[in-house]
Amino acid sequence: MLFDVTILGSNAAIPAHNRYPSAQVLNYNGNCFLIDCGEGAQFRMNHFGIKRARLDNIFISHLHGDHYYGLIGLLTSFNLNWREHALNIYGPAGLEEIIHVHLKHSQTELRFKINFHHLTADEPKIVYEDLMLTAETIVLSHRLPTTGFLFKEKKNLRKIIAEKITEYNIPHHLINDIKSGDDFIDEKGNVISNKELTLDPLPPRSYAYCSDTVYTENFVDQIKGVNTLYHEATFIHEHEPRALETFHTTSKQAAKVAKAANAGKLLLGHFSARYENLNLLLEEAREIFAESYLAEEGKIFSI
Ligand SMILES: [Zn+2]
Ligand SMILES: [Zn+2]
Repeated sequence: MLFDVTILGSNAAIPAHNRYPSAQVLNYNGNCFLIDCGEGAQFRMNHFGIKRARLDNIFISHLHGDHYYGLIGLLTSFNLNWREHALNIYGPAGLEEIIHVHLKHSQTELRFKINFHHLTADEPKIVYEDLMLTAETIVLSHRLPTTGFLFKEKKNLRKIIAEKITEYNIPHHLINDIKSGDDFIDEKGNVISNKELTLDPLPPRSYAYCSDTVYTENFVDQIKGVNTLYHEATFIHEHEPRALETFHTTSKQAAKVAKAANAGKLLLGHFSARYENLNLLLEEAREIFAESYLAEEGKIFSI
């Protein structure tokens, strides 16, 4: 199953150096989730070939403008493109009010329904679930109530060994039961154990999005063993006092979180406009956590 993330925007607060504010698209086998929607996210989608129509679920971490100012434009485009199916928006309660004010004063009536899912930043909660995935909130520590998101694949089914299907003449309608762990009983009543027919499934994969937050390891247990962690890394080490003051993180601190969580890899993002060159951010993170990468726009990272 395809499971990857495309970075649409990687900058903090002010767009600079050709970098846009926070936005990314998580793709699970064609089911796309937009995570944050900074100004210009639509332009980035056009540029990187991501189809708007495939988005049914939008997750907004908090109400600082660099994380949602692109949303009104996106909703308008959906409307102009005759979208009719419902859209789910997960975000702080105030977002619903903000959207209604925009629609009211532009006298816009949407052709589609928006289901608002109000998030709170008090404790982690599962807010989305389908057959393959769950998404839960991560409580972050920022100047406004802020949640990250942890997307987790559900337990995969066992892998059936193709040759065994022919060998034991297993009917098609029993294959899913066997993948779920059942033994097979043939026509003569012989029991063929599940162990002989299947291989262990691949371990479930997960993706954590943590932006914005001051350095904290409060949520490390929740994301332990995560395959890919996106963590904000607004500042270099030298500017740590500024990070503390503004409730942001340095790339070294992000690397510490990745290390403590035993993450597979770390994507650094939410870069301050003061840095045109991001090499120092990356170097500082790699001193602590080797599998660190810059979440540069247009890059696609496999989970
Ligand atoms: Zn931000
Ligand atoms: Zn913020």
